Amino acid sequence: ITSVQLTQHYLDRIAKFDAELNAYVTVTPELAMQMAQEADERFKAGTAELLTGIPVAHKDIFCTDGIKTSCSSKMLDNFIAPYDAHVVSQLKKVGMPILGKTNMDEFAMGSTSESSYYGPTKNPWDHKAVPGGSSGGAAAVIAAGLAPMATGTDTGGSIRQPAAFCGITGIKPTYGMVSRFGIVAYASSFDQAGPMTRSAEDAAWMLNAMAGFDERDSTSLQQEKPDFAASLGESLVGLKVGIPAEYFGEGLDPEVETIVKNAIAEIEKLGASTVPVSLPNKDLAVPSYYVLAPAEASSNLSRFDGVRFGYRCENPTDLQDMYQRSRGEGFGAEVKRRIMVGAYALSAGFYDAYYLKAQKLRRMVRDDFTKAFESCDVIMGPVAPSTAFNIGEKSDDQVSMYLSDLYTIPVNLAGLPGISVPAGFADNGRPVGLHIVGPYFSEAKLLNIGHQYQ
Ligand code: GLN
Repeated sequence: ITSVQLTQHYLDRIAKFDAELNAYVTVTPELAMQMAQEADERFKAGTAELLTGIPVAHKDIFCTDGIKTSCSSKMLDNFIAPYDAHVVSQLKKVGMPILGKTNMDEFAMGSTSESSYYGPTKNPWDHKAVPGGSSGGAAAVIAAGLAPMATGTDTGGSIRQPAAFCGITGIKPTYGMVSRFGIVAYASSFDQAGPMTRSAEDAAWMLNAMAGFDERDSTSLQQEKPDFAASLGESLVGLKVGIPAEYFGEGLDPEVETIVKNAIAEIEKLGASTVPVSLPNKDLAVPSYYVLAPAEASSNLSRFDGVRFGYRCENPTDLQDMYQRSRGEGFGAEVKRRIMVGAYALSAGFYDAYYLKAQKLRRMVRDDFTKAFESCDVIMGPVAPSTAFNIGEKSDDQVSMYLSDLYTIPVNLAGLPGISVPAGFADNGRPVGLHIVGPYFSEAKLLNIGHQYQ
């Protein structure tokens, strides 16, 4: 099969199914076909690499030269990025045709993809359900066969939770492993990009192409790029799996618990053994994150002022009026809520009580993991406490949506790598994910466990 044929296949499926799913914000058929032709040329010339010719969909948070990068916000509805994000240029370099840009929660703030200016994406397994978020469009296009590979970002769970809700594989690498250059910033000390794919093996190959030092991101890790596919196929005999009691406690749907425990039992059959571990400060993670992430967001989003790029209100009377109305009209409700929370937490007089305290909790959560990894190689548990919510179910109850991030957020606070692999389906027909978390730089191990299990 040629890249032109493969790319056409996905474009045909997008044309047929995406009107219903709403997983793409932008589809780029001409660019995709042109890049597919170039990929086929590389095969003829003998310069093709492993992923050359395999199409990819980018979350609409990655800047793409000449293509709209909206972050699913009215604020950036008219924004054509003048350059490529590092990840985008890396995947262009290997010759992956770009199918388009995927839908997401506005500025990646959310767990359902419902806060998108372009309307919610549907979960391909059940159109009444959300695909999760914020990388919900990315997860949906993989699950529905509208792209074989997709990029996502994970600030508090946005790769792993939609991967779980849509029955696909998604890995959030160690903080700093993938360059954030050209990714619209949400909470910079958490944001990390990663691959969303059908299999762990695909994710390993894709991460190989995405990762690596980039001097344009000051938090990019200066080390030689690991080979994330190197461990694929290694035996799991002797692997010590930590099971934190706190991840199987109150609030976890019993059916999800059974599916996750069965998955862990399968992994034990492959030679792993389990040990109990403790993450005693897990309940501090969500409150800490929902101070720190909005604080960073309020600072990052100050650049959207109607002056330099993005939405500008009509007929501003003066500068203040332009700022106020451009931001008031351009941002959606959830984004405004986070900016207000963040600005409050950072304001003089409250800084010590909120921001500083949240930083201390962040350290405690991280120390829990350091301690736990003294007695195990990886930690396993659920990705989310339930299967995918119904569309509309959480829209009026932000706090309950925030609380549903309880298993994924600690991993971002600590900057650790975590993967979600498909573990089965609940009786309602909605998928469940197994969450595997490892020490810094253990991506290859996590991917191999996912690969062995699949
Ligand atoms: N649900 C979390 C939030 O709303 C995480 C989002 C993300 O990882 N981008 O902030």
